[in-house]
Amino acid sequence: MPSKSPADPGDSPPGWTPSPRDGGFDPSRSARGGADLSADTTDLHRLLVESVRDYAIFVLDRTGHVLTWNPGVERLKGYTADEIIGRHFSTFYPAEDLAWNKPAWELEVATREGRFEDEGWRLRKDGSRFWANVVITALRDEMGELVGFAKVTRDLTERRAAEEELRQSEQRFRLLVQNVRDYAIFMLDPGGHIISWNEGAQHINGYSEAEILGRHFSIFYPDEDIGWGKPPWELEVATSEGRFEEEGWRIRKNGERFWANVVITALRAPGGELLGFTKVTRDLTERRASMQRELADARRLAAEETARAMAESRAQELGALNEQLRTQAEELEQRRREAEQANRVKSEFLAAMSHELRTPLNAIGGYAQLLAMGIQGPVNEEQEAALHRIQRSQQHLLGLINDILNFSRMEAGEVTYAADPIPVQDAVEAASEIVAVSAKTRGVALEVRPGAPATVLGDRPKLDQILLNLLSNAIKFTEPGGRVTLEHGVEDGRVAIRVRDTGIGIPADKLEAVFEPFVQVGRSLTHPAEGTGLGLAISRDLARGMGGDLTAVSTEGKGSVFSLTLPLSP
Ligand code: ADP
Repeated sequence: MPSKSPADPGDSPPGWTPSPRDGGFDPSRSARGGADLSADTTDLHRLLVESVRDYAIFVLDRTGHVLTWNPGVERLKGYTADEIIGRHFSTFYPAEDLAWNKPAWELEVATREGRFEDEGWRLRKDGSRFWANVVITALRDEMGELVGFAKVTRDLTERRAAEEELRQSEQRFRLLVQNVRDYAIFMLDPGGHIISWNEGAQHINGYSEAEILGRHFSIFYPDEDIGWGKPPWELEVATSEGRFEEEGWRIRKNGERFWANVVITALRAPGGELLGFTKVTRDLTERRASMQRELADARRLAAEETARAMAESRAQELGALNEQLRTQAEELEQRRREAEQANRVKSEFLAAMSHELRTPLNAIGGYAQLLAMGIQGPVNEEQEAALHRIQRSQQHLLGLINDILNFSRMEAGEVTYAADPIPVQDAVEAASEIVAVSAKTRGVALEVRPGAPATVLGDRPKLDQILLNLLSNAIKFTEPGGRVTLEHGVEDGRVAIRVRDTGIGIPADKLEAVFEPFVQVGRSLTHPAEGTGLGLAISRDLARGMGGDLTAVSTEGKGSVFSLTLPLSP
């Protein structure tokens, strides 16, 4: 407390130089000899003091007894003038202060130093305490003689309570901020350096307070953000707008990224000066992860649902298709039965018909022969020639009917095949012997080339039938002077028999067709009455029926080669 010279009137209201009167002190009547102060001014001061309610102002005599009263005394301390004037001012002090003579000490200090100021507990008339600011000023006369003290007391209870309240609330708030774990709450100076840190910040960012204070807050940002100056930009936004908020990636001390919600708020002094920023960061990683999990779950469910729906519709389609196939199969089966039935009817009809035809044909042949033999009377040359023509036509018709019967039997699946070992050389020679006469008649050379001995597995009469058909075709379609060759051998584990001719050949586009029933190349032009067109069809069927095949190659105008392959006998 600054010490003042006793003569310094600074602590006393000007013009208020108290003087003793009847052991008391009356400022209104104070007279300062030689002073120019008017009585009016003195009155004003009296008025002032008497009307001040917020300060208890009174004058004490040299020993500390109360000489004057003002309304503040009653308001603050509860005493009327009558009750307090003449009492010692120690009345206002609590017991603990009286115990060590604080009141006397205060007067001593005031006397010595001119002024004493104190804050402390004081008592009201009813014994209750109040927190007071007390200023005691020594009053001296012109001679410097101590005449008493002015005492001004102010009730600070409310201010003190408010201050205490503020202090406590600040402390509570500080504790709150410090202990929040789910939010990083810290402060930055205007340049972005960290000046406070809390538990949550340590928890989320990983740095201790000692490590981080003074560092720049850009330490929390990933390189790509630092690259374009994001941290200072955020402070710029917060400075101009008052606030910056975003969600983004931040980096923990261990380098790990976390998804954060960040709010930066500018802190300004009442005058507007920027004091710094508060930064509140929330770790949303878990929330983001769970949102992404939910999203992924939803996507997966949707995909599963789609797949299920697709599978269902697929199954339905398949079911429908299956049903369709079943009906089709039934229809086919029905048709097959019908076709089989029709075929059987046709074969029966053909068998019956060929039988019916063969009987009269045989009769025609027989009787023609009988007539030609002249047993029933002589026949002249012309009659004989006519009889031969009848016989040829009868033979031709009989062959035709036999072919048709054979073919219809095969078609009806009535033909059965034996599987006997047949020496190839045997079969080949037997067949060539049969056609030797007609080859000679036609002027075609017939040659059987010897081959390696081999045994074929098959049905002898059917093999003979095939060979005869191939040989008679070769002779029939080769001009006189030509040649027909019969070869055989073993190829790829099968027996191959080839009938080669130097005849007219078959056009390439007809080569397959000749194996179909009733197909004859250029029939009407070259050989109007020969054959039925069934021979090759029957021969291929027979070959296949024995587990072999019949094929042809040919060059028109040069000749043909028909190849019969059959299984080798083990
Ligand atoms: P067909 O001999 O009774 O007419 P095929 O089925 O045996 O009936 O023969 C069918 C047709 O194939 C013959 O009409 C003929 O046009 C042709 N063909 C068969 N063999 C030969 C061959 N060696 N050279 C030329 N054409 C042939």
